[in-house]
Amino acid sequence: MGNSMMEFEELLKQKHLTDEELLQVAEGAQDYRILPDVTVIKVGGQSMMDRGRSAVYPLVEEIVSARKNHKMLIGTGAGTRARHLYSIAAGLNLPTGVLTQLGSSVADQNASMLGQLLAKYGISSVDGAALSTVPLYLAEVNAVVFSGMPPYGLWIRPAVENVIPPYRTDAGCFLVAEQFGCKAMIYVKDEDGLYTANPKTSPNATFIPKISVDEMKAKGLQDSIVEFPVLDLLKSSRHIHQIQIVNGLVSGNLTRALAGEHVGTIITAE
Ligand code: ADP
Ligand code: MG
Repeated sequence: MGNSMMEFEELLKQKHLTDEELLQVAEGAQDYRILPDVTVIKVGGQSMMDRGRSAVYPLVEEIVSARKNHKMLIGTGAGTRARHLYSIAAGLNLPTGVLTQLGSSVADQNASMLGQLLAKYGISSVDGAALSTVPLYLAEVNAVVFSGMPPYGLWIRPAVENVIPPYRTDAGCFLVAEQFGCKAMIYVKDEDGLYTANPKTSPNATFIPKISVDEMKAKGLQDSIVEFPVLDLLKSSRHIHQIQIVNGLVSGNLTRALAGEHVGTIITAE
């Protein structure tokens, strides 16, 4: 390690930053997991929060009980209000960067509401998942709520074909899990997991308990239970090698997933 660090420093002085040899030595550095005991949970915007009390209260109960045994970073989705904003803003010919900011404000609203509900249990919502006080909250009460939209704002890389922000809250929560080297990434939504087609519009769709990114891409799905860019992030990640999607409308599912049980769909990198 010491030697390779010296070698790396020498290479940094001599070579450009995309040099093959330099990149290979940099690859050899050990990856450090910042929050290895923490599971990131995404609470869906459209799929959970927008359903209001009937979906959210039981989930709050489950979170409060699960935090006795698990450390959780809880990210929120945006959902229907964001979709409404996207359609108005797109109709006004506004760019992706503006739509991203609008979407963020809705994920913020959901984090704020979830934070209010969890407040009496000592669980806070924070203004950004970036480190600052997050480790302290996790150490003290095992859970913290954050807004799931990645903070690219105006600087988001636009999609080629349309103005909808390509990296939304599924991607934002995934990136938090990956950057912090977390234990697992669980999406809490309103279906049992991935199907061969959207079960809301295709009644004959069949359930897929486990699938790899490549297999999923080969199916050429038009629509998915997770944002498509998450699949590419998963393939190239160092720490998170699978994601799990569970039905949050069935109580007990989140707890079982946290315990490592295979409920819902698992999508694997390989
Ligand atoms: P969230 O609010 O968590 O972002 P979304 O509403 O964006 O959730 O995504 C979940 C929805 O994706 C499900 O309610 C389902 O209707 C839809 N969906 C589309 N394609 C599929 C599929 N192949 N399998 C399962 N769900 C799908
Ligand atoms: Mg979504």
